[in-house]
Amino acid sequence: MKHYEYFNTLLPELTGNREGPVASVITPSAAFGYTSAQEAEAIFAGEAQKPVYARMGNPTGGKLENAITRMEGGAGAVVTSSGMGAIAMVLTAFLRSGDKVLCVGGFFGGTYAMMRETMPRFGIEALFCDTDEYDYIEKSLENGVKMVLIESVGNPNLRLPDIRRLALLCDRYKALFVVDNTLTPLIVQPLKMGADIVIYSTTKIISGHSAALGGAAVFRALKSEEEKLTDSKFKDLHPFLKKGKGALMMVLKKRSMRDFGMSANAFSSFLTLLGLETLALRVKRVNESVAKVVSILYDQGVKVRHPSLKYHEHNLRYEALFEDGCGPLFTVECSDKERAFALLNETKLVVQTANIGDNRTLGLHMSSTIYRDFDEESRKKMGVTPGLIRFSMGLQSPLAIAEDIIDAWKRVHS
Ligand SMILES: *Cc1c(COP(=O)(O)O)cnc(C)c1O
Repeated sequence: MKHYEYFNTLLPELTGNREGPVASVITPSAAFGYTSAQEAEAIFAGEAQKPVYARMGNPTGGKLENAITRMEGGAGAVVTSSGMGAIAMVLTAFLRSGDKVLCVGGFFGGTYAMMRETMPRFGIEALFCDTDEYDYIEKSLENGVKMVLIESVGNPNLRLPDIRRLALLCDRYKALFVVDNTLTPLIVQPLKMGADIVIYSTTKIISGHSAALGGAAVFRALKSEEEKLTDSKFKDLHPFLKKGKGALMMVLKKRSMRDFGMSANAFSSFLTLLGLETLALRVKRVNESVAKVVSILYDQGVKVRHPSLKYHEHNLRYEALFEDGCGPLFTVECSDKERAFALLNETKLVVQTANIGDNRTLGLHMSSTIYRDFDEESRKKMGVTPGLIRFSMGLQSPLAIAEDIIDAWKRVHS
């Protein structure tokens, strides 16, 4: 059974209650009373599983963490205030000044800026390379890179990494392998492919309704043998490793969330749980629709780019490794900014916004918005050309969306 079919069956059990209120309960309290001084001590020691204080997590978020852990096949998860919050949490929990991170492939603008501008201010160096530059990747790992960061699908360049191959390299050189799986929940399962940590912006597909900002980091269990975190490279984490199953939860919460406070709020977690209930249905619909839309656009002469099309440089990898699709994005290349603007303004069904993975179909001109602060050289590296439009497929009829874009394309190019 496909993973999303399985998850569809499992999910209602994880997101609601069998007795009392059937929907998830929102617990907005910032503080939680303890029954005795002894219990307070046990909670702070991590021996009693009860909430400490909402900055360290709240029960609604806890429910979401359990559901995302099951979805991913992980040992646990920590939900955060946003996707960037999840990335910041993972970086600040595992790294220290002097460490190097290798960023492979295309990145969401916020992550790119974080790695290029913000992390270096704290002494963490980021190296960048393309998905298939294995000589460079191996050399950097040999030279002591501590973490490799990728996105399951490059955004907006739609280049696809070979996750298994990168995971093996990270294991060989004892580097943490972190995969931002925001674009491909359910259809790509990085932990099962060898990743150590999976990051989500739940704001996007998991929530789906553009109603809740949120993020999550999901982690694997510690291994009894060949656990790379026991390497001296990670010696400042060693005190946590004795905690067993919950070790990485402690690393994330005690080394980052407690001090930086990127904590999720209960209402956002509730909304995200609502989104999760229909995730499998929406993922299936959207991925089937994208394949249909790009094939129709291509046949009609629209300059569309997507890995399912034969001419895309990663088409073979797409066929081999992404059998259920690679998420909601596809791009259309207009010859210049003016035509791209005109095309977007001509569409009738497309909402122009910076979000992706919404139930509605979204579109945005790239170089004048998200990538406006990047220089020409960086934009080129990220595949952002002056005429590039990114679309994110929603739940509408794929035929109606294809027709809308084709009509707009024809009007602009006649
Ligand atoms: C949107 C996004 C983020 C950041 O998430 P926010 O919830 O907006 O903070 C990170 N990674 C990817 C791939 C994204 O699309």
